[in-house]
Amino acid sequence: MKCPKCDKPITEKRIKEVLHKRKGHDRARDSHRIYCNRTCFESRGNNSKDLCTECGVNQKRAAAKRCGDCRRIGVSQKRLDSEIKELVVLNPGAGFDYFIDMVFSESSTRKTGGWTVRRKLLEFFEDLQEIEGVDYASWLQNPDAMIRVKIDKVPADREKYVRGQRRTQVSRMVQRQRMRAGLSEGKANVSVKIPPEFRWGKYKPL
Ligand SMILES: [Zn+2]
Ligand SMILES: [Zn+2]
Repeated sequence: MKCPKCDKPITEKRIKEVLHKRKGHDRARDSHRIYCNRTCFESRGNNSKDLCTECGVNQKRAAAKRCGDCRRIGVSQKRLDSEIKELVVLNPGAGFDYFIDMVFSESSTRKTGGWTVRRKLLEFFEDLQEIEGVDYASWLQNPDAMIRVKIDKVPADREKYVRGQRRTQVSRMVQRQRMRAGLSEGKANVSVKIPPEFRWGKYKPL
């Protein structure tokens, strides 16, 4: 079931709440409409529509952030694709893992390791490449935009994102060479590449 005002899906919990409140109110009892929140309920009479600013093609309900089509194909329920694109532009060298952890840092994403959002993000970048000819995936992963720091100066929030740290064949080699470099140069002199600190611009963490 969707909110008749803004098209957001309505949770089971909300349906139960509303049905419970309606018990004993004869007039409301038979209404089949359930709104996602009070704001949508109170503005239910106002059916004005705007042009969707995401696609610029469809009309959207005035209270909604985007049209139904844009919502359906969107990378995330929580952020508009336009926001996601701006955040990518602000963060060259962040890499997929750091970017996804920062931008979609809700518990549901953390639980699944962000695989759904990662797949949708890749799709989004593919489409943008077709349309704009810009390779946002490479921008996000650009090693030249990463910063080089001494291995013992990696900030705790980015230890997870040290380049080549994943246990693949290649990174085992990288790790081995890092150890050997430590042997010949002294450990404190070994440096690694990490993403620069995340830039939010006008946006905020979820
Ligand atoms: Zn609503
Ligand atoms: Zn749209």
